[in-house]
Amino acid sequence: MDLVIIVPCYNEEEVLPETTRQLSAVLDELRVSGKIGSGKILYVDDGSRDRTWEIIRGFSASSPCVCGLKLAHNSGHQQALWAGLEWAAGHAGAAVSIDADLQDDPHCIAEMVDLWRDGADVVFGIRKERRTDTWFKKTTAQGFYRLMEALGGDIVYNHADFRLMSRRALQALMAYPERNLFLRGMVTALGFRTAKVFYDRRERFAGQSKYPLGKMVSFALDGITSFSVRPLRYIAMLGLLFILISVAVIVYGVAVYCQGNTIPGWTSLLVSVWFIGGAILLALGIMGEYVGKIYKEVKRRPRYFVEEESGMDDPA
Ligand code: UDP
Ligand code: MG
Repeated sequence: MDLVIIVPCYNEEEVLPETTRQLSAVLDELRVSGKIGSGKILYVDDGSRDRTWEIIRGFSASSPCVCGLKLAHNSGHQQALWAGLEWAAGHAGAAVSIDADLQDDPHCIAEMVDLWRDGADVVFGIRKERRTDTWFKKTTAQGFYRLMEALGGDIVYNHADFRLMSRRALQALMAYPERNLFLRGMVTALGFRTAKVFYDRRERFAGQSKYPLGKMVSFALDGITSFSVRPLRYIAMLGLLFILISVAVIVYGVAVYCQGNTIPGWTSLLVSVWFIGGAILLALGIMGEYVGKIYKEVKRRPRYFVEEESGMDDPA
């Protein structure tokens, strides 16, 4: 198979019929224009609680170009995407990943395929502007990209998970053993030839965002702690600074003592005790973030279990 379009879905019953219609049209166009021989839409149901899986099964029964994978549990967007990418690495010439809600423009896929045919291994879909996002989402997201850049994380500005990857890039990605997935960082770390496609991000077609604030914050933290060790280095630098300050304080204290003046106030003492205590706690918190990651990595838990398959093995 030439192309597989991977769509992670979590409670997306409202958007699936329209998504299937639009993505099938894109595949048809690509086939008719001879850009690809065969293609499929692969829906990865990330443990949805609504009728998502029934709908996917229905489409895969009625159309040869739709197939579905149902994860046994809600493993998260990145893990669901990985499940699809893993399958694509063994079955397709290239894979495009796109969200189910049609916020990313499916018409860009043709352009991505052209660039792939011209030799690019990774084609990034990049949001030109975020007119349809709320002020809050826009500001937090862009703040995150900036923070990531400042901390040395290698990510593409305004690129999320809408991208094309060639078989070669997919297979390279599969060599990453980590369980804490931050795909947009991992893909840029792969190297290979890359290209970019720009599009306007649209409004979610239907339904609610499946990324509430809590999930967004934990995803951002994951990204930073997975790809940057600078916070650790900053702690070390802070420690060094504190030691220098304390040396200066000791010298001052001894000098004052030798002159016979005892230090009168306990205020300064109390303030510094609190300050240092706070700094140590903060440092411990950041260290804990990394220790938690090591803990998760050494457990080597499987990423997901496939509960069912539908229409996965017949040729498109
Ligand atoms: N998603 C998923 N598992 C989750 C949360 C989200 O597979 O636990 C999927 C969701 O169905 C959608 C994509 O990830 O296809 C992006 O989610 P959403 O559009 O809700 O995020 P937003 O665009 O609001 O950031
Ligand atoms: Mg969305």
